[in-house]
Amino acid sequence: MSTQSQKPLKILFASSEAQPLIKTGGLADVAGSLPLALAHLGQDVRVVLPAYPQAVEGAKPLTTVAMLNLRGHQGEVRILEGRLGEERVPLYLVDAPALFNRPGNPYTGADGKDWPDNAQRFALFCQAIVALALNRAGLSWHPDLVHCNDWQTGLVPAQLAFEDNRPASIFTIHNLAYQGNFNRATFDLLALDRKLWSHQGLEFHNNLSFIKGGLAFADWVTTVSPTYAKEILTSSLGYGFEGLLRHREDRLRGVLNGIDYQAWDPASDPAIAQHFDASTFSLKRRNKTALQQELGLPVDENAVLFGHIGRLVAQKGVDLILQVLPGLIDRPETQLVILGSGDPALEKVLNAQRDLHPQRIAVVIGYNEALAHRIEAACDCFIMPSRFEPCGLNQLYSLRYGSVPIVHRTGGLADTVVDASPRNLLDGTATGFVFDHPDGNTLWRTIQRALDFRRRPGVYWEKLAQHGMQQDFSWDSSAEHYLEIYHQAIDNPASNPLAKLA
Ligand code: ADP
Repeated sequence: MSTQSQKPLKILFASSEAQPLIKTGGLADVAGSLPLALAHLGQDVRVVLPAYPQAVEGAKPLTTVAMLNLRGHQGEVRILEGRLGEERVPLYLVDAPALFNRPGNPYTGADGKDWPDNAQRFALFCQAIVALALNRAGLSWHPDLVHCNDWQTGLVPAQLAFEDNRPASIFTIHNLAYQGNFNRATFDLLALDRKLWSHQGLEFHNNLSFIKGGLAFADWVTTVSPTYAKEILTSSLGYGFEGLLRHREDRLRGVLNGIDYQAWDPASDPAIAQHFDASTFSLKRRNKTALQQELGLPVDENAVLFGHIGRLVAQKGVDLILQVLPGLIDRPETQLVILGSGDPALEKVLNAQRDLHPQRIAVVIGYNEALAHRIEAACDCFIMPSRFEPCGLNQLYSLRYGSVPIVHRTGGLADTVVDASPRNLLDGTATGFVFDHPDGNTLWRTIQRALDFRRRPGVYWEKLAQHGMQQDFSWDSSAEHYLEIYHQAIDNPASNPLAKLA
């Protein structure tokens, strides 16, 4: 059944970050593009975000459309309305200046440490979402469904579960490793309904877990790739939630993220030196020489340029790239560029390696969206050795930009990159190099496989990269998939796991 033929849904999409307003990772890419894709399918979708200074600045002009009195918060909370993206999707910003008007990142201060009042900040955000969801903000808009994302919105499905005439709720896990766990005193401080302090509720090993509100109470739980949806049912990637998730398996789906094909298009990307597409692939190398010049590497279009972009955390396996550095340095034809920020120890080691091998390695510490585009456009190979990866976006950008991905077979990486074996190379299915064990030796063997392949006559490499460029990871089919799940959630709501205690 085509969901497009059904009555348009009213969808409130709640996220703690959204591109282009504020971004720390993949959640922002999704929140900045899925609602637009849903609007494109004719749905009445509205996005709600905290009013961080960057969001207020980027979303101007804004008007105040509601004032809320929320439990435990001194003073009124303003709801500001603006528009998001070319689709002009309505955007609500929850303006509680004492909690959100701060410099830096949505979750951490300048020292990289979590804001000490994150529980209060996102509990208030959840309260505002609930008010909007129940049409209690005076906006005369009653959503059919609230789509919550990650732990910062986890209390919403739990609080809605006790309401009559509630909208349906969907909770999407973008990364189960981030759970929003706080101590019992925080539960008391937030004055949450006492019924929620139970094993069927928000309690998780004597702590309050925000994410559990989404996992236990949402009508449907989704995550961002089919493989990760299976992996989180196991003890190695379930983080203690595998039992609960197995219990909810009939209402758990993996829907692969799409990418924004307008923002990430090598044929029109304003950030890159030379536009190209699959049919003009040979032009891509001009982006390599431009980047070599920009980053102070020797300009050589025949160098094999490897790239990596990401948060510098253990999950992403940057330490494995460090392990293969001696091998790369031994191969004179290679260069490496890394863009990232995160763990200060990793930043330091990377900078030290750059200082040791300035002719071979470029390291940029920081967050730089335009440079990320130029690296994707310039590389021959993009290395993504994540130990786990719910979906991963950079391998999708790499495929689109003809930068052949080298990835660990996990989560969304396993679902989106097809390993180049001698058998499938010529039939047009191979798109990259995939390895099974996240250790330095296996990564190095895979890089060698890529380098050997690269030495074959140029047409082979070009074919491999072009196969990748021809893949379709646009949002269209994923947005349709979400719509199907929305309808199922509305037609067949889940029962409140605390109903017997309520
Ligand atoms: P995660 O959400 O775990 O960080 P994803 O691969 O899903 O990983 O998404 C990461 C997003 O953030 C991508 O769009 C990537 O390009 C971007 N990104 C990460 N680090 C940086 C950085 N230092 N500079 C620019 N973009 C970055």
